Amino acid sequence: MKIAIDGPAGAGKSATAKAIAKEMNFIYVDTGALYRGIGLYAIRKGKNPASIEEVVPLLAEIKIEMRHEEGEQHIFLNGEDVSDKIRTESVSAAASAVSAIPAVRDFLFDMQRDIAEKNDVVMDGRDIGTVVLPDAQLKIFLTAKPEVRAERRMKQLAEKGIETPFDDVLVDVIQRDYNDTNRDFRPLRLADDGILFDNSELNFEETVEKIISLAKERMA
Ligand code: C5P
Repeated sequence: MKIAIDGPAGAGKSATAKAIAKEMNFIYVDTGALYRGIGLYAIRKGKNPASIEEVVPLLAEIKIEMRHEEGEQHIFLNGEDVSDKIRTESVSAAASAVSAIPAVRDFLFDMQRDIAEKNDVVMDGRDIGTVVLPDAQLKIFLTAKPEVRAERRMKQLAEKGIETPFDDVLVDVIQRDYNDTNRDFRPLRLADDGILFDNSELNFEETVEKIISLAKERMA
């Protein structure tokens, strides 16, 4: 079984997908981490993450691996575990920029397909239901109002010891929404057979519970 969870930044996709995977004994795949890995590499090399000319040649130097250890996904960039280093706001912005480059999306496509072919997965991202797993049995488009998402994101960052002012997080959320929905190549959108799920008024447990019950209906 494949469950796709797409949606804008800060809707709670990762935490929700992770909880669903744990409950259903599926593998959780955070595809944003892959784009973040490439964003981080571009920053380290001093390249402009928005430049096709500067980013595409880097792909030949990049080996990204995803490993699952005790339910946690780890991302390796050329052998280095960068799971924590990819969580900064500058890497978020770089990930958003590189993700608009078609060659980057193609580069990561096979990896995402491959893991879904070998496992039951809950995969979160931006184009999972529309492009990566068009055959997913359940496709959720998880969203919430921008202010609600910025608030959640700010708390999430604070838990990791990264204090960021609310306005900065809100600007980042809005900017990434814009980039993700307006890019020409495989933009963020609701799949034709996807379910639009606004959780502005729901707490985390309610969101998880509702999606699990939808998944169980599809499995029956
Ligand atoms: O999900 P996360 O916030 O970690 O993703 C970082 C960035 O990677 C997003 O802003 C988006 O631009 C990009 N992304 C994407 N397609 C995916 C997952 C993430 O374009 N499947």
